[in-house]
Amino acid sequence: MPRKKVVPEDKNSQLETTTSENPPPRKTRGRSPKPPAAPDTGPSKSSKSSTGKGKKDKKDGETSTAKRKPRVTASTGDASPPKKSKSMAKNKKTESDTQAETGEMLKEKKRERKTKTKIKVEVKDDDEEAETEKVKGKGRKNASKTKQEVKEEPPAAASSSAEAETKPKRKAANKASVLLGGPGQFKKFVGAHVSITGGIENAVENAVAINARAFGLFLRSQRQWACKPMEESAARLFREACEKHGFSPSQILPHGSYLLNCGAPNPETLRKSREALVDELKRCEQLGLTMYNFHPGSSCGEITVEECLTRIADSINLAHQQTSGVTTVIENMSCQGNTVGGKFAELRGIIDRVEDKSRVGVCIDTCHAFAAGYNLSTQAGFDQMMQEFEDTVGFSYLRAMHINDSKGDVGCHLDRHENIGKGKIGIEGFRRVMNDPRLNNIPMILETPMGLDDEDEIRILYSLCEDL
Ligand SMILES: [Zn+2]
Ligand SMILES: [Zn+2]
Repeated sequence: MPRKKVVPEDKNSQLETTTSENPPPRKTRGRSPKPPAAPDTGPSKSSKSSTGKGKKDKKDGETSTAKRKPRVTASTGDASPPKKSKSMAKNKKTESDTQAETGEMLKEKKRERKTKTKIKVEVKDDDEEAETEKVKGKGRKNASKTKQEVKEEPPAAASSSAEAETKPKRKAANKASVLLGGPGQFKKFVGAHVSITGGIENAVENAVAINARAFGLFLRSQRQWACKPMEESAARLFREACEKHGFSPSQILPHGSYLLNCGAPNPETLRKSREALVDELKRCEQLGLTMYNFHPGSSCGEITVEECLTRIADSINLAHQQTSGVTTVIENMSCQGNTVGGKFAELRGIIDRVEDKSRVGVCIDTCHAFAAGYNLSTQAGFDQMMQEFEDTVGFSYLRAMHINDSKGDVGCHLDRHENIGKGKIGIEGFRRVMNDPRLNNIPMILETPMGLDDEDEIRILYSLCEDL
């Protein structure tokens, strides 16, 4: 399946465009299509994404931890590119071989093949454990190492030297199990915004393919107001895929349409935005999702910020009346143009006006926060943002984060995402994010366009966790 990523980055500017505001600074970028993931990697990877605690998960965790470089703490499982199934390749070879041979030769070949298959199966099993190791040889080596380790696992009454030997391994395994989903152990759920091209259910496989622990997605076309209703069959496939791969609704954060301006001064835009908001929340219900992230809106310079906040809250209240069970999550903005929500006080202003406060939350986008003036590249700036958020909004409302570096400088007010560590926030900024317990147990969605592979960025982020 294509792993093309739709990047919800320039919604801000698009919103402005739709509301006759500033022109977009640039076009929304999409990621180049990537090679399809090998079909056989999906299910086995799924166990890693799973919050389940099956034997296989644990085994995978131990295996992957054992073989990984210390810096990349294993976390997200092996980050190998999709590769062709070896068994598939082998079958091909076997078929052509068979066609070319007859009689005794064939019998002889069959015997030989039987032996080969046996060996292959063993190797394949090893590879399954090693899963998606980039270098085949390395994978095998590691896999056999794991086997050896399992064999050498000392009995309960092991000698102290044996215990000492296994201790680091256990520690590493614990680290992995935290990331792989021991019960109640998940702390950081890092993932990315994934494509729904070809069907909304594909989002789940796309997330699995990059070893995501969380994911974002659009719920419908971003370019048109009127969209076909979601097919129940597609919704069912999505729910089943989530179940299969162990994604709970708390790990999934859909992103609202670019077109929405729920605080629009223009009555027609406001009406259409409110309809679309209800439509998207209903899609969430259909998909079994419980959170919905959207950009609050823009005053377009035609109404006051307070009036805009009231309209947004009214839109949320109206949508809540027509739906149930889905929390509307307001994203902080970058203070670009006349968009509201760049200041935490504005987010608070919306929350204050929402009647059902159990169904409203906030998503912090790091790029937007930086562009709005919080200098996340420094400890002081990070502390300031966190303190202001606590004082103004409160962490009880924090439901998710968008993890993006910023192309623009601090306070630039521009919504320009950059790959992690490559922008003005820098890797140390994200180290602080990844190690702050106030940011635990929420989806952390990468929205970065191009550059590094998502999978790698997920691994980079997990590698920053110091105390897992
Ligand atoms: Zn957004
Ligand atoms: Zn965002």
